[in-house]
Amino acid sequence: MIIDTHCHLYLEQFQHDIDDVIANAISNDVQRILLPNIDLNTIPDMLKLCEKQPELFRAMIGLHPCDVTPEYPHILETMKPYLSNKNVIAIGETGIDLHWEKETLGIQIESFEIQIEWAKSFNLPIVIHARESFQEIFDVLKQHDSPELSGVFHCFTGGKKEVHEIMSLNKFYFGIGGNSTYPKKNYGNILTEIPRNRIVLETDAPFLSPVPNRGKRNEPQFIKHTAEFVANALGIELKELTHLTSKNAIDLFGPSIA
Ligand SMILES: [Zn+2]
Repeated sequence: MIIDTHCHLYLEQFQHDIDDVIANAISNDVQRILLPNIDLNTIPDMLKLCEKQPELFRAMIGLHPCDVTPEYPHILETMKPYLSNKNVIAIGETGIDLHWEKETLGIQIESFEIQIEWAKSFNLPIVIHARESFQEIFDVLKQHDSPELSGVFHCFTGGKKEVHEIMSLNKFYFGIGGNSTYPKKNYGNILTEIPRNRIVLETDAPFLSPVPNRGKRNEPQFIKHTAEFVANALGIELKELTHLTSKNAIDLFGPSIA
């Protein structure tokens, strides 16, 4: 069993062949797909997938850092009631992106902080998007860290220093995606630094396809390539790796994804 902990299957890139994509995921042992939200507009299609196939999908509620505008307080208020939807298992994705959106850093931090408070008060894990912003995110998390806060750095691409800083927080996991397989990153060395009980797998589909599908649309069935890469880097059998990462995902996101 493989759990894809981060996948945007409700986006238009999948509209024409969603049934095939789902069938291929299932026949490749992907038994659970977690859907991080992006903005207000993506909520209906995301929840529709959960209703269509409740055995496969779970949803998250959050505002992506690249979509934070000055209207964010109103947008978050409008989103908040969805947190009690039975299919919602996490807050996200949130975080800070300084690659695409440098000018909005101030409101990205404010929006992130509100979503951290949601995570604490609703007792849900938080899914963090970090792009060229590790220090800013770490500073915010250090201020808000507490025994009831847990979450994941999705598509983690940091180095040893970042691994150790994240491990100093209460309970954060490392989402390993297709970009870990890109040769330039030499990422195998970093994977051995991450405690094994904190690694979860993800695709971030339709983005960041793993080698050998790099550059093509990503989809959940390709998670097997990332799983093979990680198993190789850790020197363990593929079966052991998928068992381990599924157990970690259930520890983080709760028994409803088991
Ligand atoms: Zn994402």
